[in-house]
Amino acid sequence: MSTPLLGLDLNALSRFCEGLGEKRFRATQLFRWIHQRGASEFSQMSDLAMSLRDKLAGMAHISALPVVSIQRSADGTIKWLFDVGDGNLIETVYIPETDRGTLCVSSQAGCAVGCRFCSTGHQGFSRNLETSEIVAQLWYAEHALRRELGRSDRVITNVVMMGMGEPLQNYDRLLPALKIMLDDHAYGLSRRRVTVSTSGVVPMIERLSQDLPVALAVSLHAPSDALRDQLVPLNRKYPIDELLSACAAYQRFAPRDFITFEYCMLEGVNDTPAHARELLELMRRHAGSGLSAKLNLIPFNPFEASGLKRSSQAQVQAFAKILLDAGIVTTVRKTRGDDIDAACGQLAGDVKDRTDVGQRMASQRLGMIGGIPVVQGEAS
Ligand code: SAH
Ligand code: SF4
Repeated sequence: MSTPLLGLDLNALSRFCEGLGEKRFRATQLFRWIHQRGASEFSQMSDLAMSLRDKLAGMAHISALPVVSIQRSADGTIKWLFDVGDGNLIETVYIPETDRGTLCVSSQAGCAVGCRFCSTGHQGFSRNLETSEIVAQLWYAEHALRRELGRSDRVITNVVMMGMGEPLQNYDRLLPALKIMLDDHAYGLSRRRVTVSTSGVVPMIERLSQDLPVALAVSLHAPSDALRDQLVPLNRKYPIDELLSACAAYQRFAPRDFITFEYCMLEGVNDTPAHARELLELMRRHAGSGLSAKLNLIPFNPFEASGLKRSSQAQVQAFAKILLDAGIVTTVRKTRGDDIDAACGQLAGDVKDRTDVGQRMASQRLGMIGGIPVVQGEAS
């Protein structure tokens, strides 16, 4: 069976090369060809011996995911729709800003958490992405953008695991992908520039703090268990106090001095001044155990099946003011890529597919995409 090399971090690639009777440093050369130069053919790798290139070609491959569509927004946002087989489609979104380029990456086809306000959640779970499929999104986007922009330096400076799926429910495949993103011989992104966004898988937050404490974003969306149970069903398993305690513990290992809490503003559901005050109380209680939080209010991107509405701007501003006046860093996310449905929780385009999942994706709205750094806050 041919090994997808995009799925191997440097240690795994070294073991793979040793298995071929090669020295470890060959793996570093190969790794750099793949990730830094975007090579997909072994024949391009001019400083590797011909015999090794032949051997590799027989037992390994470096393959892009088939692109189903590319959409470009007037604001520069680009959305790729990739085919990962069996009718499963995933999305990746590039969000350019003056001082950075952020890539929003998917971790699963569908999602099992089933949040009420998220169309990926409504779609249900299809399968975990392999490490190679997670990395392929970055590998492809980075090198396609370099070619397009005629650049040889890094285009993507930040990665957010905020595409489709719950990254911490695919931990074993996520971890090597994060290692590749951070590796100086690959993308060389710092821990602060890679964000894992989670709906709150407490044991995996603990593991991540030990393995690779990258920036953490937590999708909170409600100030009480009664309400969060309804919006984010995983809360029934890991209630808010347990989640926030895990976040406080994470901060001892995290490079950032705060954890971002995402809060999707839903009209009449979680957006009243009373909710803001309850949230404030919650944050104050946990600040005592060392949690420093930043709040990111997200305008809800509506889709029909949710039966939910976006809060008015006035409501969002009033909510933000209560938190800001109490000294909590609060930002309101700008939506990007609205015109191509690349904003948070938007659909995956007019995809027609014969399969069941494809049908559902075409007829329902397909959840997606956020991006904290997308989002420079407008804090007021
Ligand atoms: N599963 C992870 C990461 C993917 S979702 C998580 O839940 O954190 C990325 C972000 O998009 C989350 O904060 C999620 O709450 C938000 N989101 C999902 N659907 C949305 C919608 N319809 N409108 C606005 N934000 C949405
Ligand atoms: Fe899954 Fe995140 Fe959507 Fe919830 S918000 S259903 S965890 S992708």
